[in-house]
Amino acid sequence: MGGISIEYGYVKCKTALSKTMLPGLDYSLNPYVGCGHGCIYCYAKATLRDEVKALKWGRFVLVKRSLIEVLAKEVLRKPRGVVGLSTVTDPYQPIEEEVKLSRRCLEILIRRGFNVSIQTKSKLVLRDLDLIKSGNFDVGLTVTTMDDYLASRIEPNASKPSERAETLRRLSEEGVETWLFLGPIIPELTDSEESIREVVEVAYETKSDLIVDKLNLRRWVLDGMKPFLDEYKPGLVEKLPIMLKPNSQYLRMLHDRVKRICDAYGLKYSLFNFTQ
Ligand code: SF4
Repeated sequence: MGGISIEYGYVKCKTALSKTMLPGLDYSLNPYVGCGHGCIYCYAKATLRDEVKALKWGRFVLVKRSLIEVLAKEVLRKPRGVVGLSTVTDPYQPIEEEVKLSRRCLEILIRRGFNVSIQTKSKLVLRDLDLIKSGNFDVGLTVTTMDDYLASRIEPNASKPSERAETLRRLSEEGVETWLFLGPIIPELTDSEESIREVVEVAYETKSDLIVDKLNLRRWVLDGMKPFLDEYKPGLVEKLPIMLKPNSQYLRMLHDRVKRICDAYGLKYSLFNFTQ
């Protein structure tokens, strides 16, 4: 843990399965509001209406009260489909170890024959390997860099990158369909040939599909990054909006770099959000 203190609380849950337009998913299921992993670049905060809460992102987590009861009713009347767990929080963030809300959701979804696509930055997902192997699941681990120190600064409460790689390895060995989400690639921080190659190598070794994402400067993202970047890379915050404009020279260069590295491994990849 990165030593950031987190406030915990509860929030009322009205809907468990929400329709989503995200590729490959029919529903999203988010057991928590907020995320204790505290990634400085997180754009999930842009889904909030409350600016005060958005600027506190990473320092509060609300557990959805009665989620299990709501989900148990919804699975009886909603058509079966693929559920994304989760899309605006991490289902295996630290509080999950204690409250087991994601696990209990999985149990309900399996019983009703829903498919589940899990995305996380935590080795805790291995706790639920028994459920994952018994259902129609795929699991994605997000890895932005293999540099443990840098990760501890930009994703302070997530598992170390080496642990995430090991988690993917284990899942893959157990026959689970796996994918690696390389993103966001942050200019001048995680975008070097070497940095990208180290992550691509993990996807290659674990036979995981690779999805590549650029940094998304949605609302309040630069506010979250500024304190760290001003210390680590002075002047970068001011340059980012220009570098990341749709179809910018930087993004074309980055895509060429990703393509060259993946081609060397004979690895197919898909781009997420690159053209927006
Ligand atoms: S793990 Fe995902 S949802 Fe949680 S803070 Fe990081 S980017 Fe945001």
